[in-house]
Amino acid sequence: MAEQGKIKKIGILTSGGDAPGMNAAIRAVVRKAIADGLKVVGIQKGYQGLLNEEMSEMTARSVSDSIQQGGTILRTARSEEFRYEEGRKKAAAICKKHGIDAIVVIGGDGSYRGAYELSKVGEPVVCLPGTIDLDIACTDYTIGFDTAINTALEAIDKVRDTSSSHERCSIIEVMGRNAGYIALWCGVASGAEDILIPEKYNYDEQEIINHIIESRKIGKTHHLIINAEGIGHSTSMARRIEAATGMETRATILGYMQRGGSPTCKDRYYASVMGAMAADLLKQGKTNRVVCYKNGDFVDYDINEALAMKKQIPEYQYEIAKALSI
Ligand code: ADP
Repeated sequence: MAEQGKIKKIGILTSGGDAPGMNAAIRAVVRKAIADGLKVVGIQKGYQGLLNEEMSEMTARSVSDSIQQGGTILRTARSEEFRYEEGRKKAAAICKKHGIDAIVVIGGDGSYRGAYELSKVGEPVVCLPGTIDLDIACTDYTIGFDTAINTALEAIDKVRDTSSSHERCSIIEVMGRNAGYIALWCGVASGAEDILIPEKYNYDEQEIINHIIESRKIGKTHHLIINAEGIGHSTSMARRIEAATGMETRATILGYMQRGGSPTCKDRYYASVMGAMAADLLKQGKTNRVVCYKNGDFVDYDINEALAMKKQIPEYQYEIAKALSI
């Protein structure tokens, strides 16, 4: 851990999948750091950009007009080279060469692991949770999740209208390769009859088919299934369900639209607070920390402890989703 006043210049990058609200976080880090007398270097395209030395000093004006924009003004990327120790040692040497005392990493679980490995070869880090998937164990909130679920929900409501008019079954596939949080939230909020998430799905399609048949018997005229990307196969699932139930069934895959768009007020607010906290930590000389939102408060944890934490879909919330769709 560094001492207070030791950190004079910080780098900032966004890594892995982009998420709405990342710009609000960048803006907060940059402006709070500058207000506290630190210099800030913006690194383009994540760890790969660091390895390529794609960086320049940022001013308070570099982040003007960005808070309302989706995506990330620093761009993002994935880096194969950075997965190897040799690559990370090279990255740490580049930081030394440019006088970057610590790096703020905004990204998902993979980016956190990369940041931890970078800290082990001598470059201190602070991480901010930037992912639409909500799948970082140490935090109850991630930057971009709120925007993504609201974008998805708006689309689901539209499909639901037409599905209801035609008395169809609709399968709507939302993002979440390993985590079902987007599907769970959108499923509950849209009143879906079935929610399929990687953490829980047993791959028994007959159960869904029986559910559709039973629901029709009790007077339901349409059937909405929210399927997570990690389960996938929505189009072929629709064909099989139609064949088995005789109910016209359509699949809609929402895809990348869920990643884009102007961040919601919540994402801008939380990202702003968390970004400012990251700059504060560094000003105080505290490094190798992750900024989180836990049990109703903004907190920070040691990165090693944070990475050891586990997260599970809340059982009760998953169970009530079923009860509410009768
Ligand atoms: P996300 O941060 O959205 O989860 P990725 O999993 O693709 O996205 O991770 C982003 C980048 O972080 C990767 O391209 C890689 O350079 C780095 N990274 C991911 N996992 C590790 C790891 N275990 N060790 C070192 N670097 C990693």
